[in-house]
Amino acid sequence: MFRADAPHLEGMNDEQIAAIVAPVAPMKVLAGPGSGKTRVLVGRVTHLINELGVPPSHILCITFTNKAAREMRERLVASVGEENARQITAGTFHSVASRMLRKHVHLLDGYGRGNDFVIYDEADTKSIIRKIMVDVFMEDKKKADPALAKSRISAAKSAVDACVGMDGRRMARALCDTRPSLKRDPYIRDQFPRLYDEYEANLRSSNALDFDDLLSAAVALLRTSEEARLFYRQRWRHVLVDEFQDTSLSQYELIRALAAETARVFVVGDVDQAIYSWRGAEVANIRTKFDSDFAGAGTVLLTKNYRSTATIVKAAQAVIGESRDRSPLELDAVRPGGKDVAVVATEDEIEEADFAAREAARAARSGVPLKDIAVLYRTHSQSRPLEEAFIRAGVPHVVVGDTAFYTRKEIKDLVAYLRVLFNSRDTVSLQRIINTPPRKIGPGTLEKLEAWAAGLPWVDGMPQPLGMALLDRTWSTPDQDDLLPPAADMGLAAGAYKAVSGFVSVMRELGEAVEVSDPGALTEEVVRRIGFEEYVADMENGDERVGYVKELVSIASDPSAVESLDGVDGGGAAGGGDNGATKRKSTGHAGLGEFLEGISLLMSAETRSEDEGADAVKLMTLHAAKGLEFDTVLITGCEDELIPFKRGDASSDAAEHDEEVRLFYVGLTRAKRKLFLCRAFKRQRFGRTVYADPSPFLEVIRESLVGGKPPQARRAGMGINPAEDDANTDESPRRAALGSDSLAEHLRRTTGAKAATGGSPAFRKYAAGESGGYAKANAWKRRM
Ligand code: ATP
Ligand code: MG
Repeated sequence: MFRADAPHLEGMNDEQIAAIVAPVAPMKVLAGPGSGKTRVLVGRVTHLINELGVPPSHILCITFTNKAAREMRERLVASVGEENARQITAGTFHSVASRMLRKHVHLLDGYGRGNDFVIYDEADTKSIIRKIMVDVFMEDKKKADPALAKSRISAAKSAVDACVGMDGRRMARALCDTRPSLKRDPYIRDQFPRLYDEYEANLRSSNALDFDDLLSAAVALLRTSEEARLFYRQRWRHVLVDEFQDTSLSQYELIRALAAETARVFVVGDVDQAIYSWRGAEVANIRTKFDSDFAGAGTVLLTKNYRSTATIVKAAQAVIGESRDRSPLELDAVRPGGKDVAVVATEDEIEEADFAAREAARAARSGVPLKDIAVLYRTHSQSRPLEEAFIRAGVPHVVVGDTAFYTRKEIKDLVAYLRVLFNSRDTVSLQRIINTPPRKIGPGTLEKLEAWAAGLPWVDGMPQPLGMALLDRTWSTPDQDDLLPPAADMGLAAGAYKAVSGFVSVMRELGEAVEVSDPGALTEEVVRRIGFEEYVADMENGDERVGYVKELVSIASDPSAVESLDGVDGGGAAGGGDNGATKRKSTGHAGLGEFLEGISLLMSAETRSEDEGADAVKLMTLHAAKGLEFDTVLITGCEDELIPFKRGDASSDAAEHDEEVRLFYVGLTRAKRKLFLCRAFKRQRFGRTVYADPSPFLEVIRESLVGGKPPQARRAGMGINPAEDDANTDESPRRAALGSDSLAEHLRRTTGAKAATGGSPAFRKYAAGESGGYAKANAWKRRM
């Protein structure tokens, strides 16, 4: 039942329409990049609302990034109107789970978390682990490195669909089940269970969850609480998921718990774009599990690529052909191809970055909007020289997924104040701020305070966290304004006692401000009350730090600056308040909670919000580019061991190699019209100069586009003689355009070219076939 002329079906092909108007039943859409999966998902939501009369508040859309969620809502505004669009719930797995728990975590029996829980990011969890290593395992404070332990805890948690309440022994077993090689690891056998239990106890007493917990607690909530289950099943009668190939075990279980009985689930994905197995994503979810768990699931395949030109699609297909385990789906480009793929060689990462900035500027001059240009790279560390080059060239840019701001000391300090004000049980944050700015509460005093709190009566079956004892309690003593019990009871000397009282009094005053302020005003008040600007101004680079503090105040004042999820509470039959698409500033405890949640989710690799609104070139990792599209894409660092990436500590196995293939495939298929593949001869990595071979994928692409193996081309190490001044590439002498027909001609013209027309003398020597250029040049020759 549908109108073929409905606006959301306009221009769609038959398969796309079939998916959009399919009867309400479990449905899976499988298709390659750029084939309109996301567009179909939006079309489906429109169809549910406009044609089937489904109330928008009954729709839950899970997207991979907050940006995708926002885009979806924007598109829906056009098709179903603002009021309707506002009522659908659209967000990432983490943001949806977080909102569910915010409302219902108290229903999770024995979990010991209140609805004002905080979310601990990597740095917070590592600081807990470091403390356990030192206090419990007596490790040397300077040497204790929590990174491996954290990744083991996280791996254990992702190996179990809902680890809530499981103890360390069980988690160690779960970890070994997924990684049998760990079975004989004495660390896992002897230390891990205790470490895990201590870690959990810490989180619990701090009323905190880590990122893994968000998902497993939400699954556990739905499984164990009839009330929550009914609420959410009633609330979200239609569940749609984009990028389904990258769902993890607990994400999949969340969908199953929500949709199992109603079976109104619609997922889209592409196994060739699965790039998160290293973080626990399971391709089996889309390949087989979905069909077996959702009986009678229909499948629609899409095979036309609307995004990229034929040349780009051809290059991408050649690359994905390198994966051993790929989808049998073919992809036909709708858009014709031309000179769309270019390989660019530069001397080093600085020249590469300059090239990227110049090329972006050139594209912009020719009419491409800046935000339709992206520079992609394999590792975050590659962003620095690029950023610098863009600044030098004066080209507006934004580093997507850059959380550097939130990891700055002054920002973490200030956020820690807000967190303690929100949840006094947050021990990690309390430890951070109790003597910041310095107020004479040294480690000795802190230890005494902790001992004092540990001796207090337990609350809710747990020892009283220090923050609760200091900030939440009323102590009836006549002479101290009831702030604290007498110094002697706390085991403190007079000076320390005075210092602690001072801190407590400031925090209690600020606590009163929470209820009457929005997050911006509150942050400003904290800064003022603790003299924070004066404190950071005295530090190294003081002015800059003061600037960052002001920026946090302004972010806190602008509710749209940090993403939070709309719609969980909104409008519907079972819903309460009305969170809107047009965000309003929330005040009080709830507003503070929303703000802090937004910041926390930003720190989760998965939900990073992108500052994509600005008209600026996007710099981002290949992973972050998933699902997005740009007119012009430059992929930098197309060098062996970077693409495909080789970890320093281990040789990569075949499965890892395949994932690298898929990742590069994702990168290539982001480009609509123009794709540059950049490689440098040498690059600074891990603080040393690395001479690099070209990525083997470049040769695969070259062969697919021009065939054959011209000797001259192979000498240049990437299949292209880099010696041509292309008509529209005058600023980059070492580029070769790889249009499918133009390249053969290009090679013919350049065969025998004696010298490159740019670069250092060493480069020119090398390009001209003379020896003694780059040390690494010899290594290339050995490979030929
Ligand atoms: P990815 O796997 O990379 O996420 P996708 O399958 O989700 O890709 P979309 O982003 O939905 O693909 O679509 C890719 C581009 O093609 C978009 O610009 C979209 O608007 C366009 N497109 C999709 N279907 C059609 C169509 N039938 N007619 C014209 N353009 C289309
Ligand atoms: Mg998509």
